[in-house]
Amino acid sequence: MSGEGAEPQAIRKLAPGKLVIASHNAGKVREIGALLEGYGLEVVSAKALDLPEPEETGTTFVMNAELKARAAADLSGLPALADDSGLCVDALGGDPGIFSARWGGEARDFGMAMQLVEDKLRAIPDAPRDAHFICALALAWPDGHVEWFEGRVDGTMVWPPRGDKGHGYDPTFRPIGHDVTFGEMDEPEKNEISHRGDAFRQLVAAVF
Ligand code: IMP
Repeated sequence: MSGEGAEPQAIRKLAPGKLVIASHNAGKVREIGALLEGYGLEVVSAKALDLPEPEETGTTFVMNAELKARAAADLSGLPALADDSGLCVDALGGDPGIFSARWGGEARDFGMAMQLVEDKLRAIPDAPRDAHFICALALAWPDGHVEWFEGRVDGTMVWPPRGDKGHGYDPTFRPIGHDVTFGEMDEPEKNEISHRGDAFRQLVAAVF
């Protein structure tokens, strides 16, 4: 709701209890569970509850996170948290963006996806190499209430890829102010500056 005179809505707090992580990716569920440790939550995955994976038909990260969280909350009757993230390269008009996972093909081959980004950048004369990662989080309750958070980290696309830590496009992304790529950083160091760390810090500050 917006408009003159509208009162800002208070952010709803998340009470201790069960929280569905609306993902079928075991790694993501584990990572999110670890980020939310110590808040009295019993984390359960959408897969463990046998919930179907909704099609990601949104046109923004927030829309996709919301549709996943809403579907899981509706079907489980429990609060549900979903994330949606990706790499946005300025010179490519924000691509791969919400299609970041899909650029890796069926096999989720990110060697191929990083090469595709590089080839497209090279096809543009003097293309700037600025890029950012976005992580959107949506927390939905069964009564339809949703809270959203969006984290971001800015950086530069490097070539060739460097480092074998992390995942996805990490070896080709060097965050601003750092000499190393995300692929060369340990996870705690990456979390301190990453889009995902940023989004979770916002969520934790708001809902607990
Ligand atoms: P999602 O699971 O639909 O949110 O897909 C996100 C995709 O974006 C992943 O498969 C990665 O390709 C990419 N991505 C998101 N966050 C990161 C990151 O921290 N490092 C590298 N790639 C990422």
